[in-house]
Amino acid sequence: MDAQLAPHQFSLDLGFVQDGDLHAYVERVGRDLQAAANSQAQPCTVRVVNAHHVNSYSFPGGSIGITRGWLVMLRDESELAAVLAHQLGHLGSQQVAQALSRSEWRRRLLASTVSVSQDSAWTPVIGLVDPLGDSPLLRDFTPEQEIEADVLAMRYLTRAGYPAQAWPRVLDRLAERAQAQPGLLATINRHHPLDDARRRRAHESVGQLRDSTTRRRTAPALWSAQLAWLQRQVPAIEACQLGELAMLGQDLVTAATHFGRALQIASDDYATRVRLAQCLQAQGHSREALLHAQVARELHPGEAQAHRLVATLQLSLRDAAKAWLALEQYDRLLPGDPGVIFLQGVALEALGRTRHAAEHYRTYLRLTREGQAAQYALSRLKALGYPP
Ligand SMILES: [Zn+2]
Repeated sequence: MDAQLAPHQFSLDLGFVQDGDLHAYVERVGRDLQAAANSQAQPCTVRVVNAHHVNSYSFPGGSIGITRGWLVMLRDESELAAVLAHQLGHLGSQQVAQALSRSEWRRRLLASTVSVSQDSAWTPVIGLVDPLGDSPLLRDFTPEQEIEADVLAMRYLTRAGYPAQAWPRVLDRLAERAQAQPGLLATINRHHPLDDARRRRAHESVGQLRDSTTRRRTAPALWSAQLAWLQRQVPAIEACQLGELAMLGQDLVTAATHFGRALQIASDDYATRVRLAQCLQAQGHSREALLHAQVARELHPGEAQAHRLVATLQLSLRDAAKAWLALEQYDRLLPGDPGVIFLQGVALEALGRTRHAAEHYRTYLRLTREGQAAQYALSRLKALGYPP
């Protein structure tokens, strides 16, 4: 299940940062830590995702994600190791080990994919995702589980020769940032609750750990070199963060201004293009949105969201043939998204292939009867004269 769910979450977070060296480095830190920790979990794969908010998560098969919004807040390798150690703590304590059942897996995927608003009869689909990254694919942990993972994390850090102090330091910075921009930390706080008691416990636990006899020699120059490219994106990332907060507050005009500024700073940034396109789409400016979505698709052809965005925009612009092609591409990159079945139904109906469309609507309704997409599918079956 992990192998199927993790790619969907990574894609909701706008895919991987396009910097192979950075990934190799981050993964090396994760694997060294895991080896030193003697963790029984499967070898981890660490991915830096393009999302702008602050979050990190893990899936039972060992996939760990960290957003670039968080990575740029970290100051050295030991802090990165601390974030990864916390996720390894969740994995090592078996908190995420229980596999989800197939039906639960599908329910979560359904909840995460289709979000529909009925603008008009022809454009039922706006693929707006939560810009601040909340996702039903992510696990919720209790405050007790958080403390357990923190304690394990600091033990792993010590075993690997990193200062355990790195983790409470990161938690303190998170708490500070949460005061200034609570929206950016809403997701991580929901799934990994952080309160004063937890921070206090983390500080206390450091005192109880015996320092490793072999202190790891980290190279600050290596950290700076690996993070250099990402650090240059910080002004654009910060502009996008403001844009996403505005989007969350339904202030789409302000949001578009922030995304526009991010675009001036980093015109070749995939995530900025996707967000700007989504913002314009939400304002009903489909044609302008499509231009940015198409550029995004060219910038990061292997990432699925831009293909989906192009598909929904082509549907609103009544070019169902192009929408169909984009959906096929999306499905190849990210198979198993139930939302695609629905969107394909809409495209097929627009192409005049009503029998085929009805099959898609029915398949979708077998998966769920809830939500606006299901309502729409039901109403179309009735209108086309097919039994639901
Ligand atoms: Zn946690």
